[in-house]
Amino acid sequence: MSIDIKLRPTRAARPRTESRRAHPRHDVRIVAAASGSGAADPGCAAGPEALRRSDLLTRLWRGGLEPVWDATLPAPEGSDAADAVRALCQALSQRVRMLAARGAFPLVLGGDHSCAIGTWSGVASAVGARGSLGLIWIDAHMDAHVPGTSPSSALHGMPLACLLGEGDPDLVAVAGGGVLSARNVCLIGVRSFEPEEAVLLSKLGVRVVTMDEVARRGLDEIMREAHTIATEGTCAFGVTIDVDALEPQEAPGVGTPVPGGLTCAALEQALRAIAADPKLVAAEIAEYNPQRDEDGRTLDAIVRLATAILGTEDAGNEPASAAQLEWQYGAHNYDPLPVTLVRGQGVYLWDDEGRRYLDMMSAYSAVSHGHCHPALTRVLCDQAMTLNVTSRAYRNDRLPLLFQRLCEVTGQEAVLPANTGLEAVEAALKVARKWGTKVKGVPQDEVEIIACDGNFHGRSIAIVGMSSEAQYRDGFGPFPAGFRRIPFGDAHALERAITRNTVAFLVEPIQGEGGIIVPPSDYLARCAEICRRHNVLLICDEVQTGLGRTGRMLASEHDGVRPDGVILGKALGGGLLPVSAFLARRDVMDVMRPGDHGSTFGGNALAAAVALKAIDVLIEEQLPERARDMGDYFMRQLRAIPSPLIREVRGRGLLIGVELERGPVSARQVCEGLLQHGVLTKDTHHTVLRFAPPLIVSRAQIDEAVAALRAVLADSGTDLRNAA
Ligand code: PMP
Repeated sequence: MSIDIKLRPTRAARPRTESRRAHPRHDVRIVAAASGSGAADPGCAAGPEALRRSDLLTRLWRGGLEPVWDATLPAPEGSDAADAVRALCQALSQRVRMLAARGAFPLVLGGDHSCAIGTWSGVASAVGARGSLGLIWIDAHMDAHVPGTSPSSALHGMPLACLLGEGDPDLVAVAGGGVLSARNVCLIGVRSFEPEEAVLLSKLGVRVVTMDEVARRGLDEIMREAHTIATEGTCAFGVTIDVDALEPQEAPGVGTPVPGGLTCAALEQALRAIAADPKLVAAEIAEYNPQRDEDGRTLDAIVRLATAILGTEDAGNEPASAAQLEWQYGAHNYDPLPVTLVRGQGVYLWDDEGRRYLDMMSAYSAVSHGHCHPALTRVLCDQAMTLNVTSRAYRNDRLPLLFQRLCEVTGQEAVLPANTGLEAVEAALKVARKWGTKVKGVPQDEVEIIACDGNFHGRSIAIVGMSSEAQYRDGFGPFPAGFRRIPFGDAHALERAITRNTVAFLVEPIQGEGGIIVPPSDYLARCAEICRRHNVLLICDEVQTGLGRTGRMLASEHDGVRPDGVILGKALGGGLLPVSAFLARRDVMDVMRPGDHGSTFGGNALAAAVALKAIDVLIEEQLPERARDMGDYFMRQLRAIPSPLIREVRGRGLLIGVELERGPVSARQVCEGLLQHGVLTKDTHHTVLRFAPPLIVSRAQIDEAVAALRAVLADSGTDLRNAA
């Protein structure tokens, strides 16, 4: 399905962006329960992935929402069906509870309908302190079997019974012992059931509306009655839709189709009538089976139902927002926080609604000088009007000056320029291998390079091949041979791992993306000594730690180490351009001959002029010293936050990680909370918040960021207590 999105200037999109924040469902979180373990036909397990690949999110965006695909929870492999359903429902319940407790609107996408046990026990527990939960259950079936009455024993025939406290004790326990009260539940659209189910629901007092009654009275009137039932005496209500409630001609892609169902248009209209009620706190759509949905009809119906229950506007021909366009036309290899930035100055950034944010991330340390540093933008503009890219088929007059300056400030002797960090890492690996082969005398193709667990050196195939992070590698093999990994921070492990064929040890002085991990204080010095003894090159990846970030020009200086090779990037471009470099001893670099390596853009005059100025500014403005002083202050203030959610504050200079306790609240959630408080940062490794502002940050700005973090953690603590 394609959508005709008209491109217009972003200004035209502003009113929609503003209405987005005001929208009652502005914080929609999609949680997918990708399991068919509760059904005889497990095809529904593929439902969420098909929905994720569909234009569901784009269409919700067009309707004025910025939904986030929060999590996809699969059923655990290898367990029997009942165990799988229980485990999934437990995880789902926790996730949904957490989201609902902090005011987000969970939209759960099944999977078979046994997921309802997890969804609604989670929602009920989140709102429990305020009162009880009502539920409108739209389904062709009653889902009210207990193990003795079900002909198939399939668990997706039982969730409503469980949520009412009846049936399999283990499942009832997952359902919180029965979190729904029958008088606040209304079942609509029923046309296929066993008599025992009808008896149970009637005994409990659940209002059941069959399709015959819908035909007689009309769905709008029925929905009004259901709304009254679900809201009378409750503090909140939800809607769960089994797609088989729809007429199979409109929605053939369901687990168990039954003729004579609701039309999509009628259900859409009825859902819209209740969608605006602020008491509606969550929704669920289950039983979509893409294998039976050849022409995508069911998918389209689901998107229409989701749009209706979330109460989004009909987007018509309105222009697309930046977020929509990015989602529709971009690769989905990032999951950005929901903010569109349009301007930056110093430590501040502004979004498309004119809101100002403190930048505590500085583009993963690339913006150490601050945004749009005037001296750097001036050099950029002047040089851009003079000479830019000529390739290195010729010399340019800027690059040699950069080479000289880089060697002066790092103590290295030769420079190989590149553009991005990973390119400089790749260059380092090539130089090390060639040095190992030609100088150290390791047989061709037998050289080994040692890296560390938890490393981050970029994302090329060779580099992710060195990674210990499963996701970075998953699906991208095969990887080049000749790399091995050892634990980070353990010099003995290095000594043990070195063989005759080892040519280099590649290490970050502080692991940045790995979670701001600071090794023991003598680690690098001991590694340097071991490398020297074994004639192994010590190569420090200072792409993130270098150029003042940790309080010295290079982080390796803290340990009095001069590595055999150093990799720089990020801040070398002054926050304006990608500029990186591999620096090394002259005798090491001299293994490279013309033609061995190259880059069309590497070392271009524009990049060289900006990088040269970036180094000058670092020195003139004493940014390494500032990083040291402000970093000490920042860390002291962070350590003084009295929150049980903080496990540790660590770092060096202005590369700081705040590790949260695992479980209660994710680092991503805290980042989203900070965003609301006007502070931008980014989580790493689920539990670590990074604080790495531009090195020009002031005490007052640090105080502002710390106050925001205090407030967000205090709110999260309150949410958790309420949810408990
Ligand atoms: N090395 C380190 C230590 C890094 O932190 C990064 C980026 N985070 C890289 C290399 C890769 O840099 P780039 O994204 O510019 O390729």
